[in-house]
Amino acid sequence: MRPWLIVLLGVGCLQAQTTYDLLIQGGHVIDPKNGIDDIRDVAILNGRIVQVAQGLPAEAARTVIDAKGLYVSPGWIDIHVHVYAGTGLRALTGDQSVYPDGFSFRTGVTTMVDAGTAGWRNFPDFKERVIDRARTRVLAFLNICGVGMAPFGENNPADMDPAGAVYVARQYPELIVGFKVAHYDQPDWLDIDRAIEAGKATGLPVMVDFGWTGGDRTIEKLLREKLRPGDIYTHCYSGHRDELLPSGELNPAMWDGRKRGILFDVGHGAGSFYWNIAVPALKAGFRPDTISTDLHTSSMNAGMKDLPNVMSKLLNLGVPLKDVIRMVTWSAAQAIRHPELGSLDVGTEADVTVFALEQGQFGFVDAAGARMDGTQRLRPEVTIRAGRVVWDLNGRASVDWRRFPYKKRERPQRGLTGVSSVGQK
Ligand SMILES: [Zn+2]
Repeated sequence: MRPWLIVLLGVGCLQAQTTYDLLIQGGHVIDPKNGIDDIRDVAILNGRIVQVAQGLPAEAARTVIDAKGLYVSPGWIDIHVHVYAGTGLRALTGDQSVYPDGFSFRTGVTTMVDAGTAGWRNFPDFKERVIDRARTRVLAFLNICGVGMAPFGENNPADMDPAGAVYVARQYPELIVGFKVAHYDQPDWLDIDRAIEAGKATGLPVMVDFGWTGGDRTIEKLLREKLRPGDIYTHCYSGHRDELLPSGELNPAMWDGRKRGILFDVGHGAGSFYWNIAVPALKAGFRPDTISTDLHTSSMNAGMKDLPNVMSKLLNLGVPLKDVIRMVTWSAAQAIRHPELGSLDVGTEADVTVFALEQGQFGFVDAAGARMDGTQRLRPEVTIRAGRVVWDLNGRASVDWRRFPYKKRERPQRGLTGVSSVGQK
């Protein structure tokens, strides 16, 4: 074969390789894992990230999203939600869980982690009816109580069975990321001890909603003695468990816990984020490791609203944007020990969030109903899950309607055949 022909064939192969399904062009990429905080293009092929670089050719892409003036980050991960919907579970009253796809993509979220709505008894039902049917990636902390967040279920010692929890966690290692305790109202350590027992047996972390304190059940003992490095203290700005001392100082046990490697999660919810706790804590330099919503019908219709709203609160309290993004991407992925998530690494599944940073006059409401004024707000524009556009606020991936190849709707063939065969009999 002539050398020039070999070169030509080589170029042909190269061109075929650089064809993208989707190119997100000209956005400001924030990818904390890879230290990127600059203008880049992001190319996607077959559901995966294939290139993050400057000046990628638009002609090589089937679809181009113009992201100039917008930010681009790995898909957001919310590590505390309640999505075991249609069951009446979560929490003490009524049906508070929501279906994942109804709330994830429109808020920039591609991965949701259910925080113990289901326990080891009902997890298979949760998986079958919600997790397997969702386009959102749904993972779960398994409640240490078998029935999960059923009324009074979380205060039933007889149902807190580490062996049951371990058995189910081992059955679904791709879905279960740890164990959850919540709303416990006894003055002992039964909930924590049993969850940690399950955590030790599986090597998985425990997420703690510390419930009620009393007797020797104190935050000092929890953070200095009970929890292990990598365990997660959610609702860190609630103030319900002496996170802030009456003097207005942050409880030194919070710093001690951080030094020991315990992770602190926002878990905003309907009763766990207050300005009079968050402001002094952040002034003292105590930032959260992860930002999460504690999404359920009560929190989403009150001050919490959604993940970008909670992220915006931290932003307006002075946490830099790149750190806010880290808290819902790479830090969140590490907290749930899924290092294949939370970055734009080449080869990883293409979960991407494209968002705007709005400047203006905004109001943010805490769990008590108090407002803080702010000047910045995050607005998700395009959400991509496994390479597919699953949310597109302004039709950035769409074609102008005047150039759109409309087709007349056709009756499905299967339906017609069925009708005629019945008629012939
Ligand atoms: Zn919760």
